[in-house]
Amino acid sequence: MRQPVEFSSQVVEYVYDTSFSEFKKELSVDWCIVITDEHVHQYHSHLFAGVKSTIVLRAGEENKTIDAVLSTVEQLLSVETDRQGLLVGVGGGLVTDIVGFVASVYMRGVKFGFVPTSILGMVDASIGGKNGVNYKLQKNLLGTINQPQFILFDTELLETLPVEEWSNGFAEVIKYGCLYDVELFKNLINNNINSYRSDKQLLSTLLKTCADWKNKVVIEDEHEAGVRKLLNFGHTVGHAIETVNKIPHGHAVGIGMLVACKLSEQFGLSEEVYHDLKTTLQHYHLPTNAMLDKLALMNVLQMDKKRNNEGIDFIILKQVGQAEVQYVTFDIIEQAIEDFINASNN
Ligand code: NAD
Repeated sequence: MRQPVEFSSQVVEYVYDTSFSEFKKELSVDWCIVITDEHVHQYHSHLFAGVKSTIVLRAGEENKTIDAVLSTVEQLLSVETDRQGLLVGVGGGLVTDIVGFVASVYMRGVKFGFVPTSILGMVDASIGGKNGVNYKLQKNLLGTINQPQFILFDTELLETLPVEEWSNGFAEVIKYGCLYDVELFKNLINNNINSYRSDKQLLSTLLKTCADWKNKVVIEDEHEAGVRKLLNFGHTVGHAIETVNKIPHGHAVGIGMLVACKLSEQFGLSEEVYHDLKTTLQHYHLPTNAMLDKLALMNVLQMDKKRNNEGIDFIILKQVGQAEVQYVTFDIIEQAIEDFINASNN
């Protein structure tokens, strides 16, 4: 299935339920440079036969660096890539973030497309045009906003994705359910990680639902002045937990969403949502508890770049499917962390 999605700068072709091999026939492979990472390459290199060149990046967030960008540029030069080249990023968010950035700056911009291979890549990282690399401990400090020509969703590529990466990606899927979509939230609670890993149709529908939500939000607010901020649900405290507890992003976001529910209860959210969210996270092998060091977390939160005087804009839920931005002072966040710790000890 094809769906052109119109952003202000570019129409992006979303290609669903099509295999990479099938889609490759439509590309001028002589001009294609596939850029992937070592793990994806290990399993799927046979798919890249016939392209002009394949560049293999090191896997791992610590390799999302300007050095990786420069090394990619060197390799593009070594195969004499010119402005007719098409860069095809095949991988998770690390690959698509680097490829989008390289393609935006190489020769002042060359065409590029994405083939996300992780759940997170398919529902989030490949969508929306943001790309970039980390620099000096700052995530995504260097980057551009630029849309790809196409995004291909080939669910067969997910067969080699480690199960913990499925969980990581599902944290973002669950987030869409909480923010926008009661039916999605119900489906997630009624299913579990194995249902989606074993039922291709169920998975395809889910991925498209999430991609549609992200597209809708990005189109409405390309410059993150309003509704796109809601996508930070669970991420404010989640990022602090990721930093302090050194746990994977999806795990931290899951707990961040639970803390956000506790905070939202101070503004009228029913306690039932917290319990439903907890059950849902468990269905996707995401933790619902962690040893939280409240003081360490508050120290990190108070250094958040979104800080404004004695507080921060926080995403709260009014109910499942309805969220809003609310300015809250740090003592309210501290109380929410305390409430979460108490609730998870009971
Ligand atoms: P990732 O790209 O690091 O992939 C996670 C791991 O899974 C890696 O080891 C990778 O090699 C492996 N992998 C991926 N696909 C595989 C497959 N099919 N088979 C086997 N192994 C596979 O991480 P991610 O979770 O996909 O993305 C996280 C990145 O995305 C972060 O850098 C984050 O900043 C970025 N991101 C960007 C946006 C955006 O809007 N640009 C949004 C969210 C996240």
